[in-house]
Amino acid sequence: DMYMDRQNSLGRDYSQAADRERHVLALEKVDSEKLTSGPLIGGKLKAGTNPQDVTNPFDRSQVLGHVSEATEADIDAAVNAAGNAQLAWDRKGGSGRAPVLRAMADALEHDIDRLVALLSREAGKTLNDGVAEVREAADFCRYYAMLAERDFGGREELKGPVGEINQLVLHGRGVFACISPWNFPLAIFTGQIAAALAAGNAVLAKPAEQTPLIAAEAVRLYHKAGLNADLLALVPGRGETVGAKLVSHPGIDGVAFTGGTDTAAAINRSIAARPGQIIPFIAETGGLNGMFVDTTALKEQVIDDVILSAFGSAGQRCSALRILYAPKDSADALIEGLKGALAAQVLADPTDPATDIGPVIDAESRANLEAHIERLKKEAKIVARAAMPEGADKGDLFAPTIAEIPTPDFLEREVFGPILHVYRYDPADLKTVAGKLAARGYGLTLGVHSRIEAFAEEVIRLVPAGNVYINRSITGAVVGVQPFGGEGLSGTGPKAGGPNSLIRYAAEKAISNNI
Ligand code: NAP
Repeated sequence: DMYMDRQNSLGRDYSQAADRERHVLALEKVDSEKLTSGPLIGGKLKAGTNPQDVTNPFDRSQVLGHVSEATEADIDAAVNAAGNAQLAWDRKGGSGRAPVLRAMADALEHDIDRLVALLSREAGKTLNDGVAEVREAADFCRYYAMLAERDFGGREELKGPVGEINQLVLHGRGVFACISPWNFPLAIFTGQIAAALAAGNAVLAKPAEQTPLIAAEAVRLYHKAGLNADLLALVPGRGETVGAKLVSHPGIDGVAFTGGTDTAAAINRSIAARPGQIIPFIAETGGLNGMFVDTTALKEQVIDDVILSAFGSAGQRCSALRILYAPKDSADALIEGLKGALAAQVLADPTDPATDIGPVIDAESRANLEAHIERLKKEAKIVARAAMPEGADKGDLFAPTIAEIPTPDFLEREVFGPILHVYRYDPADLKTVAGKLAARGYGLTLGVHSRIEAFAEEVIRLVPAGNVYINRSITGAVVGVQPFGGEGLSGTGPKAGGPNSLIRYAAEKAISNNI
């Protein structure tokens, strides 16, 4: 069975001497190189415009490399080249395309140490997060290769009247724009592209402003893996310039987007305004993720899972826990336990294997989080803040925080970073409390900690969510194991890394032949 025979990517363990050595060497190399990113069209780096330094979020004095932004002419050229190459790629069928995606997965694994070093330096990822991200990127490539073979293998015969042949076939739509966030600058960036390519499309990829170097690495790896360079162009730049240009370009036949809900809504409007054109829009967006605990839950397990879910990756996961609903009878004990566990988290340079929490992505994000802390100080109660290490002001470290909120509808929207909100609730009011969360309209991840199945089922009924986690952490969905994506304000679907991932990247043709 194709799903069961699948193998997910293996990683590294940087606490082990041999792997640690590889990491140190890779880091030295990345630090010495001064990387370049910019418009990559037909495999060639163009001059672009508006050159910028790319710096390390843990230490802003370290310049990692440079990026220039794609110009309008660059985008036009890339759309043209992509459009010209797409049909031949589409006609290769799934079995013709799958080997390139598998070669990309191999290339990612081959370069894992370098990619982890770069993820740490450019995006502030801890080493474990970096390893998980490279593995996820490779998993996306292999999983979508498998789906390409399954879904794009030629015409499927359908049962119909005698004397007539009825067939259904999938094909690529044309040129996709893939627009990605900085928080999974390799896995999501690579995964969107892999899905679009697997379905027979060509791609223009716009990475987030903060992470253009890792994106350029990924594009170069795709080309090295054997992909015709015209089929994948990198068009870095700001969302409001390059992003906006892409989503309104008449040569773009579909948009895949991962990022904030407001950005998705803006893109949706500009797609709707394309004169005389309708194109598909796939959006994976933010969440307001809750975890409901009852008094039967195992306290130590809850604490571990909450710390990982709220503070892992510095809380910069779309799936991260934002609101913990603690039952009033065990809330004090839980909060005490969380305080202790937070104090034990190591906030430091993410390239150090001992680090649990690295920096947030940039000064703007840090300022937004600090503004939220000010609100919490006035309208809620700060329960704990981690201590900042010495020298923290050279970069964008942000002290992880736990706050108790006074009402179940205190948070209107996603706050993207390491801030956990705790609401003490009376289990007799579960319906009302859960209803307030549901009313916000998000639907990404949801956690339940309880040994009573009926409680879990009740929570699942009350709170919309694309991914539900019972008695475990609520982050770290694995390709093919927990297909990932939200509903409502959290996304359009289909889920990434699931059996239906490719369908909206493709067009369907039914052929009925009365021989
Ligand atoms: P963002 O600000 O929405 O940006 C995402 C991407 O959209 C960036 O490349 C951005 O460019 C671009 N963009 C901005 N405005 C645009 C426009 N008008 N037209 C076209 N493109 C535009 O999100 P982010 O801060 O990078 O990422 C964090 C958000 O992503 C959080 O809300 C998180 O929950 C969500 N997320 C969701 C998932 C999921 O699977 N559901 C996964 C990861 C992250 P710039 O480079 O200029 O910003």
